[in-house]
Amino acid sequence: MSLHPMYARPRDLEQASQLLASLSSGAVIIAGGQEIMPFINYGVMMPDVYVDIGGIKALKGVNVNDDEVSIGALTVHRDIQSTEDIVERLPLLAYAAQQIGGGWQVHNRGTIGGNIVSMHPLYDIAPALLALDADVELLSDKGLQRMSLLQLQNDSSHGLGSSSILTKILVKTMLPNVLWGYYKLKNSAGAYGSANAAAVIQMDGEKIKSIRIVIGAVSETSVVISKALDGYLGGAYTLEIGRAIEKVCIDAIDEPLSDQQGDGVWRKAMAGIAARRATEMALSNLTTSSIKR
Ligand SMILES: Cc1cc2nc3c(=O)[nH]c(=O)nc-3n(C[C@H](O)[C@H](O)[C@H](O)COP(=O)(O)OP(=O)(O)OC[C@H]3O[C@@H](n4cnc5c(N)ncnc54)[C@H](O)[C@@H]3O)c2cc1C
Repeated sequence: MSLHPMYARPRDLEQASQLLASLSSGAVIIAGGQEIMPFINYGVMMPDVYVDIGGIKALKGVNVNDDEVSIGALTVHRDIQSTEDIVERLPLLAYAAQQIGGGWQVHNRGTIGGNIVSMHPLYDIAPALLALDADVELLSDKGLQRMSLLQLQNDSSHGLGSSSILTKILVKTMLPNVLWGYYKLKNSAGAYGSANAAAVIQMDGEKIKSIRIVIGAVSETSVVISKALDGYLGGAYTLEIGRAIEKVCIDAIDEPLSDQQGDGVWRKAMAGIAARRATEMALSNLTTSSIKR
């Protein structure tokens, strides 16, 4: 820890990774600064060096390779909502980014990489990306490494934010027959969610072929529910099945959070409601036209 931290703005990934390797744990990466600046301003965090990655071109932009969308870690929420390739290929992600609170400043400066690395339980991006089974790419002194976002969420040894950089997010294009929904239960407009749910459903005619639900904002990390829903595959969606899905999702929450967004017992119950509403939103055939650009 230093009383006079230094500021560095590496030109490219090579320079950034060399710098981070030489600083060990004394560095703190800054992207949009929306989350980390308050910690710095209040003196809660005093690293040796702030490493501003904002000038690294390789971390910017959205590209499509075959059926995979690659999203640079510095892509801001506004661009997630408006970039054609994301709106058309990953409408669930575009819609979830649209639900982020905090107004224009947050949407124009907050990055998808910063949102993921923060691992904040109330954030909207992780549930959507987990529902889409996304991968992430990390750069550390060991080189580039690709892993699933789920694996990253369960692994605290990644060193992101100090010794390693999240470079991109990789997501398979959603197939045209995949239905999706995202429901954010919140106390007021622009607030964090008390219970968030992302649903991805594939139908075979009237029958449910696959279903994956992710609950956010209720536990310390997002909860992915898929195997537990296998019993509802092969049948048509009915209100009874909706209620059963609700119960499965409630039962999947072990230690619900209690904070300004609500008491844990209520949040656990609301996880079920959010899951059912996201499911019904998906089944109502929500299309990209619902995404305001
Ligand atoms: C008022 C307000 C309301 C908000 N409401 C919501 C909301 O409703 N839903 C929601 O999802 N989000 C919300 N956010 C969060 C916002 O969406 C940002 O995504 C979030 O602040 C982090 O993004 P950032 O780019 O600002 O990250 P920073 O603050 O720059 O960094 C955050 C953390 O990630 C690390 N980091 C950043 N980028 C990388 C990288 N590429 N590699 C390695 N480490 C990295 C940093 O070291 C730091 O630890 C809100 C923020 C504010 C200020």
